[in-house]
Amino acid sequence: MKTFKITALSFLMIVLTSCKVSINTLPDQSATNSTQPLHNIALNGKVYSAVWQQNAGEFRALCYQAYNLAQIRVDENLKNPSKKPLAIITDIDETFLDNSPYAVTEAEKGNTFDTKSWMNWTSKGEAKAYPGSLNFFNYAASKKILVFYISNRDENDRIGTLKNLKDLGFPNADNEHLMLKGTSSDKEARRLEVLKNYEVIIYMGDNLADFSKIFTKKPQAERNDLVDRNAAEFGKRFIMLPNSGYGDWESALEGYNNQSTSTEKDQVFLRNLRGY
Ligand SMILES: [Mg+2]
Repeated sequence: MKTFKITALSFLMIVLTSCKVSINTLPDQSATNSTQPLHNIALNGKVYSAVWQQNAGEFRALCYQAYNLAQIRVDENLKNPSKKPLAIITDIDETFLDNSPYAVTEAEKGNTFDTKSWMNWTSKGEAKAYPGSLNFFNYAASKKILVFYISNRDENDRIGTLKNLKDLGFPNADNEHLMLKGTSSDKEARRLEVLKNYEVIIYMGDNLADFSKIFTKKPQAERNDLVDRNAAEFGKRFIMLPNSGYGDWESALEGYNNQSTSTEKDQVFLRNLRGY
């Protein structure tokens, strides 16, 4: 693993250096063709993100910042009368479980993501928790606030996911509170199910669609516009955790074309970069 880290970092430096050259030629992106050597931004971006996630104190600080803020919001909400029991809805991956080891191991093989290797990773139930997350969720539980885990992991990931949550000591780690993808990745129906019986005080996620249906499958520019128009909700009802490795932002750039090759992905990324 250590050898790979060094190799990956060296390669990344080469990629970033060559990327700088490419950015400088951006106005002529129409001339780009698929026979050029790949800069492999998609794949190596995931490695770079994992380097940050696994090593940067700044990453840890952002996690603490989000979870400290969530606790402040919990305390505020506890002062308000509510007709229904209180609940928190949270995503799992890159909201409090760190899957960067999966990204690293797949990158070593030249892959980004596939269902089979993902299940191999989740079935181990060995993901570590984001800094601050375990304390926060147990604090909420100590205040009689229920935690609902709404995740787009598959049903096939259920056993490994519950093992992971239980082993780490997260509250409400049971079938009733773990709401997986089923037939739809749209989380709205699952949110509404919780809202029937509970007052949801905060939503936690690393992906805009974790918070509200208004963000689901929206084009890139519209996503950004919606974030601007809902700026006051972030840090209030919506608590965002850092994940620079993947998310709907990638899919939105590609027009939600999940069949893109890595060459096509790179071309999309290059077209959406600004130099000066
Ligand atoms: Mg997530």
